[in-house]
Amino acid sequence: MSDIRLYVFQTGSLICKYHDIYLNQGIGQDFEIPVPWYLITHPRGNVVIDGGIPATCLPDPHAHWGIAADFFKPILTPEENCRDQASAIGVTPDSVRYVILSHLHLDHTGAIGRFPNATHIVQRQEFDYALAPDWFCAAGFIRADFDRPTLQWRFLEDAWGDFHDLYGDGVITCIRTPGHTLGHQSFLVKTPRHTVLLTVDAADTMDHWEERALPGALASVVDTVRSVRKLHCVRDRAEALVITGHDPKHWPEIVKAPDFY
Ligand SMILES: [Zn+2]
Repeated sequence: MSDIRLYVFQTGSLICKYHDIYLNQGIGQDFEIPVPWYLITHPRGNVVIDGGIPATCLPDPHAHWGIAADFFKPILTPEENCRDQASAIGVTPDSVRYVILSHLHLDHTGAIGRFPNATHIVQRQEFDYALAPDWFCAAGFIRADFDRPTLQWRFLEDAWGDFHDLYGDGVITCIRTPGHTLGHQSFLVKTPRHTVLLTVDAADTMDHWEERALPGALASVVDTVRSVRKLHCVRDRAEALVITGHDPKHWPEIVKAPDFY
């Protein structure tokens, strides 16, 4: 496949708490959210973003997540893993050149180490922070997901600026959007059909995107708010469609694989 397409996939869902998604609302209530990931086909090499929940969570989430499995419950089948889902649309594992991580939370690390030729791209600040998070952020990071000696990495340094155009052709642009985590990044993807802004967890619902509510799980409130404002500028300039990170209400409206943007 040599044309440029953006596919949206789902690796199951995650039961978290309502207050993880809506700050100070619904304290303690369970809330099920979709877990998306993204694949861009490109003539210079296919690109996976995030990869959803790692297959290593099955069959026993506690074995891989430890205490985090007390707070987060993954709902997925063994077939719902990014490698098999990519293969199902004809994207072979060895054709993936880059795995880009929006951030290193446990529901975004499914592609790490799953594609043999891939270089993994993450903000330097995200990687460094995930190795030594503050106590209130620690449950979201599973060190075994990303701290492995055989992985190839490219770290995006703060000094390189807020925007990183992966292939230099405007198709995939990484945008620094700290707040949800300190080194979070979002993505502007341009295909022949559409321009799509993947906020990922910089805005995990449309309520957050439209500034009707703050998200509950965040590292920095002020940075979170300012990153949404920054992405509004990106959206306006690019006239992009917006896909947020985990919105159960908006999710049915999003085009999923095998269809594409
Ligand atoms: Zn997250």
